[in-house]
Amino acid sequence: MPHFKVAIVGAGPAGYFAAQALQNLANEEQSFSIDMIERLPTPWGLVRSGVAPDHPKIKTVSKVFEKIANTENFRLFANVEVGADITVAQLQEKYDAVIIATGSSIGKKLGIPGEELRGSLSAAVFVPWYNAHPDFVGVDTPLDADTAVVIGAGNVAMDVARMLALEPSELDPTDTADHAIDALKKSNIRKVYISARRGPEHAAFTSPELRELPKLEHTNVVMRKEDIEAAIVRAGSEPEKDVKSNLDAMLLIAENPKSEHERTMEFLFQHTPKEILGTDRVEGVIYSTPNGDVTIKCGLVITAIGYQAQGIVGVPYENGKVVNTDGRVNGNMYVVGWAKRGPSGVIGTNKSDAAAVIELLVSDLKSPKNAGDISELLSHKVVVTQELWQKINEAEVTAGEPKGKPRVKSVERTELLKHAGL
Ligand code: NAP
Repeated sequence: MPHFKVAIVGAGPAGYFAAQALQNLANEEQSFSIDMIERLPTPWGLVRSGVAPDHPKIKTVSKVFEKIANTENFRLFANVEVGADITVAQLQEKYDAVIIATGSSIGKKLGIPGEELRGSLSAAVFVPWYNAHPDFVGVDTPLDADTAVVIGAGNVAMDVARMLALEPSELDPTDTADHAIDALKKSNIRKVYISARRGPEHAAFTSPELRELPKLEHTNVVMRKEDIEAAIVRAGSEPEKDVKSNLDAMLLIAENPKSEHERTMEFLFQHTPKEILGTDRVEGVIYSTPNGDVTIKCGLVITAIGYQAQGIVGVPYENGKVVNTDGRVNGNMYVVGWAKRGPSGVIGTNKSDAAAVIELLVSDLKSPKNAGDISELLSHKVVVTQELWQKINEAEVTAGEPKGKPRVKSVERTELLKHAGL
């Protein structure tokens, strides 16, 4: 029976679902060994560093990842960077197939004046900062002004706005990075605007996220009723199901204004950012609106307008994605997830997406290569295996128990490796 070796680069949702799809296709006629290679000492990708910490239910998918990882013929090589510690060409030589599953980690730019000022950040650095990603501990997040602006009308913008507008003690029972909880507790921000360049009927938020806003216990959520009513008219008598569901949720918010709380999250629609004002640091945003230019004074601007994939030498990229046809890249290279299709969809979207690519990959396989093991190429590296990752995981979960948190994340690589006994 042929036994094929497959390398998966990136231990996020797309990578795990690709591994699962391969495991599901193993039968009496073919079997697979899977080596998953991850740059960080910890796996789970976006589930660890992207999902908002006040959404712990979404993170329960990590149980599925661990089940996949604890299956026979699966090995984790974390703390190994493809492109630095080992090349794509080496992987292509050693494995029958190589799957790129590295996501999209670079924040898109607005391309307007003032974007480089202090206090203007991308969600691509702010989100991993509050999620304890080791590469973003030192991000400069000035929270001393009373107003922040979040640009973008998607779920990432919503996560960021909520994190800024929540009463920070609500984050105590979460796995938010300790440094972020400390900074948010000292924050002067009381007003958070979230701005969309188009009307409510075009917003990329999803309705479960909108429907949870009225449940915020310490935050006023403000939408102008006129904005939503005008959008309902523009959407017509037969809007798409998702649009209708969003508009219903927004109308509910607009019709039940709250003002008793100290903190407010306010939605601005049809506000296209034109310029970020300031000399040394952010002082405001000029928007063009249907009623002319409007300036919002603020000390922090976070853009959440989409992502692009980070390049790896040896992998072709175009328009922020890996160049591919239905997941086929070139030779024995494949791509799944956001690196393949761009930053869209929820975590579960990657399951069907990966399964379709794996079907093609398996149909391309001929006879196994038997080209040796990559362990020889990594003898110089401190590798975090699945067993060692489980030690890190246990240490973090144990540290969280007395504090009523799901875990206390370690942010320094050295500390993470220490938990693994390295
Ligand atoms: P997104 O859903 O694509 O939203 C991006 C937003 O940025 C859109 O509102 C877009 O507006 C706006 N935008 C783009 N370029 C802009 C510009 N130059 N100026 C102003 N606004 C601009 O992306 P995302 O929020 O990064 O989310 C990525 C994916 O992850 C989505 O599928 C999302 O649902 C998912 N996600 C899910 C959850 C969850 O399930 N809780 C949480 C986070 C993320 P236009 O429409 O006008 O282009």
